[in-house]
Amino acid sequence: MTDPERHDRPRHFIQEVIDKDIAAGLNEGRVHTRFPPEPNGHLHIGHAKSICLNFGIATEFGGLCNLRFDDTNPEKENIDYETSIIEDVRWLGFDWGNRLFHASDYFPRLYEIARQLIASGHAYVDSQSADAIRAQRGTLTEPGTDSPYRNRPAEESLELFQRMRDGEFADGSHVLRARIDMGSPNINMRDPVLYRIRRHHHHRTGDTWPIYPMYDFTHALSDALEGITHSICTLEFEDHRPLYDWCVTHCEVPSRPHQYEFARLELTYTLTSKRKLLALVESGQVSGWDDPRMPTLKGMRRRGYPPAALRLFAERIGVTKKNAVIDFELLENSVREVLDHDTPRRMAVMAPLKLIVDNYPEDTEEWLPAANHPKRPELGEREVPFSRELYIEQDDFMPDPPKKFHRLGPGRVVRLRYGYIVTCTGFDTDADGQVIAVHCTYDPATRGGEAPEGVKVKGTIHWVSARHAHEAEARLYERLFVEVAPGSVENPADAINPDSLATSKIFVEPALLEAEPEAVFQFERTGYFCADRNDHTANTPIFNRTATLRDSWAKLNAGA
Ligand code: ATP
Ligand code: MG
Repeated sequence: MTDPERHDRPRHFIQEVIDKDIAAGLNEGRVHTRFPPEPNGHLHIGHAKSICLNFGIATEFGGLCNLRFDDTNPEKENIDYETSIIEDVRWLGFDWGNRLFHASDYFPRLYEIARQLIASGHAYVDSQSADAIRAQRGTLTEPGTDSPYRNRPAEESLELFQRMRDGEFADGSHVLRARIDMGSPNINMRDPVLYRIRRHHHHRTGDTWPIYPMYDFTHALSDALEGITHSICTLEFEDHRPLYDWCVTHCEVPSRPHQYEFARLELTYTLTSKRKLLALVESGQVSGWDDPRMPTLKGMRRRGYPPAALRLFAERIGVTKKNAVIDFELLENSVREVLDHDTPRRMAVMAPLKLIVDNYPEDTEEWLPAANHPKRPELGEREVPFSRELYIEQDDFMPDPPKKFHRLGPGRVVRLRYGYIVTCTGFDTDADGQVIAVHCTYDPATRGGEAPEGVKVKGTIHWVSARHAHEAEARLYERLFVEVAPGSVENPADAINPDSLATSKIFVEPALLEAEPEAVFQFERTGYFCADRNDHTANTPIFNRTATLRDSWAKLNAGA
C-alpha cells in the first residue's frame, strides 16, 4: 500500500504544513484527518483524490483518518449511498479501523452546543422568512442589514429554540443564526444560519429531529469533537474558513482543528458533479452509477481499473491550491502502467478471419505452452490449443501488402505467437471479392515460434484455434463525452459520445472461460479487458475493454 517513490517526490503544501506543525509540537504531534462524504450520491474520481490525500497523510505521518458521513440533509441522503461509499473506500484500499462516524451521531451534542451559543450571546432565533433573511444579506459590495430579531433576549431565543426542537413550528418559520457581523466583508460571516426546521425523516435518526444543523456549523464541530487536527477540503470552502474558525473558537469543544483547502480534481472529458452524474443515470443515458463509462469508483471498478492505478494517479497529480484540468490520458496511463505489471496475457480475436494451415493434419491438435506474462516467468503459463484451422484478425492480412507490412500477405512469413512460423500461400474470396480465408503452411521445426538459425521473422500475430475458441462479447468503451469540458455544457446529455459503447462478438482462447468476474487480462496486441462484474458468466463470457494498448499500437504502426 505504501508507495516506495513517495519520499522522492517534491512535498506538497499540506505535507509542509504538517511538517511544521509537528516540529512546533502542535497537537502533541498528532495528525488526524477525515474523509467526510455526504451520503447523497456515489463516489467519483474527484473523491478518490480526497480519499487518497486524507488517508495518505494519516499513513505517512503515523496518524489516523476517520470516515465520517456528513448526513445533515435528510431529503437527499439514504442508507444505500452510505453502504456504497463504505464499499468504495474499502475497495480503494483504505481502512478507518473502528472510526466510522456520522454527523447525525452528534445531533444531541450539537444541540447542547447551540444552546450554549445562545446563552453566551453568540446566537439568536430569527423568526423572519428565508426570503427576508436573504434580502438582508447584502452583496459583495454592500453590507447586510440587522434582523429585527438580532437583539432578542437570550432567554427568549432559548425558549423558541427549545420549541423548534420540540416540533411546535412549521418548516421555515424560525431559524437559529450565529450573531457575528452583518457588516463583515465576508458574506459567510453575516449571521449565518446554524439550524433550520425541517420535518423530514432521517435515514438514521428517524423522526427524532425536526431541526437540522447546517453544514458549516456541523462540519467544524464534528471535526472538533473527533479531535481532527488537519481538516482538508476543496478550495470553494476557503471563504468559509473564518466561519469554521469562529465555530471552533466560540463553541465549547475539546479541540481546535484547522482547515486547509486544495484544488479539486477536474479531468478532461469527465463530469465530476454528483448532481450531473445523477441526471445521466436518471435520464437513462448510462446504464447506472456503475456503468463502465462513468467516472464513479463503481464505474471504474467495473471497467477494470485497479485501485492501485487510482492511487498512483492521485499521487501523480499532486496537491496544489491552483485549479487545473488534468488530462484524462494521465489516468489511463496510470491504469496501463499498473495493469502492465501483473495482468495475465491471453489471446482473443476481435474481428476473425480464418487461417488454414494446409500442411497441418486435420485430426491433430496440440496444446502449446504460453507464458502468462512475457517479462514475469513467475506468473506461470497456460496451454493454448493449436489445430489446422485458426482465427486471426482481419487486419493482420492484406492481399497486396506494402513492403513495411510485417504481417500476413501472399508469400509473407509471420510468427503465430507461442505457435509456429507460417508462410502465407494464398487466400480465398467470396463472390464479392471479400477475403474469407487465408492459407498457409507451417514449419514443424518452429514449435513455440522459434525461428530457425539465421532466419529473421519480423511480425508476430495472435490467433485462436477455431474449433477450440469460445465466442464472447466484448464491450468496447470509449470516453463518454465528445466535449473536453462536459461540465460547462448546458446539457451534458447533448455532449455524449455516440460511439462510447460498441459491442462485438469475439473469439477467445479456452483459458478465458475460467475468468472470474472482475478478473482483468491483456488480450495480446489488443488491450486490457475485464470480465464484467455483473454480467459475465462461463456460459456467456462478457469482457469490458478497460483500456487500449496505446503504446503498443503506436509501435505497431511504426512498422512492427
Ligand atoms: P456536493 O455538491 O454534494 O457537496 P461533493 O462532491 O462536495 O458534492 P461530498 O460528499 O461533500 O461531495 O464530498 C466529500 C469530500 O470529497 C469533500 O471533502 C470534498 O471536498 C471532496 N471532493 C469532492 N469532489 C472533489 C473533487 N472533484 N476533487 C477533490 N475532492 C473532492
Ligand atoms: Mg460537499
